[in-house]
Amino acid sequence: MLKINFIVYSQPMLWNKIEQIKDLLSRKRQIVIVSHRNPDGDAYGSSLGLYHFLKKKGHTVNFVTPNDSPDFLKWMPGVKEILIFEENQAAATEVLQRAEIIFALDFNALNRVGNEMQAVLEKIDPVYVLIDHHPDPDDFADFSFVDVKICSTSQMIYQLIAALGELDLLDKEMASCLYAGILTDTGSFRFPNTSGDTHRIAAHFLELGIEHTKIYGLIYENSFDRLKLLGKAINNLVYLKDYRTAYITLSNHELNKFNYQKGDTEGLVNYALSLTDVIFAAIFIEDKQQGIIKISFRSKGNFNVNELSRAHFNGGGHVNAAGGRSEKQLNETVAGFLGILPKYKDLLMQGHE
Ligand code: 5GP
Ligand code: MN
Repeated sequence: MLKINFIVYSQPMLWNKIEQIKDLLSRKRQIVIVSHRNPDGDAYGSSLGLYHFLKKKGHTVNFVTPNDSPDFLKWMPGVKEILIFEENQAAATEVLQRAEIIFALDFNALNRVGNEMQAVLEKIDPVYVLIDHHPDPDDFADFSFVDVKICSTSQMIYQLIAALGELDLLDKEMASCLYAGILTDTGSFRFPNTSGDTHRIAAHFLELGIEHTKIYGLIYENSFDRLKLLGKAINNLVYLKDYRTAYITLSNHELNKFNYQKGDTEGLVNYALSLTDVIFAAIFIEDKQQGIIKISFRSKGNFNVNELSRAHFNGGGHVNAAGGRSEKQLNETVAGFLGILPKYKDLLMQGHE
């Protein structure tokens, strides 16, 4: 098989503490990997990719996730071994308490794991290694590897393994997980965060035999209900030409009508953003169970939805993709959103792609 051994580092300086990580991993350790609440493709992909790598190196490894994932991620190798904190608090807490090293992946603040798991993390004292691509990380880790220019934490895990000089250990299993994370965080290699390195790394994964067509299908194929829900979402789309903004709402009633399953609303906001001339898109989803409206924001170019979400919707994320929440009713939340738009009008009209 063709062996690819070119070096892929967009940011060699990022890994300047790699010798200390090598030292940390130079003997068998109790390691726990944690990622954020409501895990997405990159949270699962990066964590499971690293999980398989560290196990192959002989460490004792657990992956603890705050809550369950959507079904479309459950094909990933290693998924059955995940400890879901919300469903198995005692076992997850015990594993966390035993950890010598905790790798925190794909999130920038401890509160992203949810209150109960955060309380456990705050009471223990392992070595924390943070690997993430979100801006403005909180200062909780002993080692922080953060680069907002890298498309995904999964790509960073590949680069970590490269920096450790261990790419020879990479196999189809790890590659499939990491590829899934890159695929979902780059919108299938189309967002501006996709770089030459991203494609070179994907090329390496293909050489390792990953089944990319199958992986794409496992992640993106729709159930009949989900496709009908997409129809409803597009029917609810509102276009605010004067603000270059579009938004979608989905009420609890509408979700129930299409037999909503976790993950069914993933990516819907991108349909609003796909409108020509629109540079700012939002989706408001009523979550009766949590008693909140879950919001996703997306933008094109330099319009910063991370700042907007932090300022008004209790959330955050990246410049072009952020999440947020509101404790008000759906219609009041949308009214509040419409109320803040005039403040952003100049930025929205100046914003470019
Ligand atoms: P999504 O809209 O898909 O839920 O989230 C988009 C991006 O924003 C993801 O990178 C996600 O990690 C981040 N994000 C979502 N919700 C929050 C939040 O409440 N706080 C912060 N800091 N980031 C979030
Ligand atoms: Mn990510």
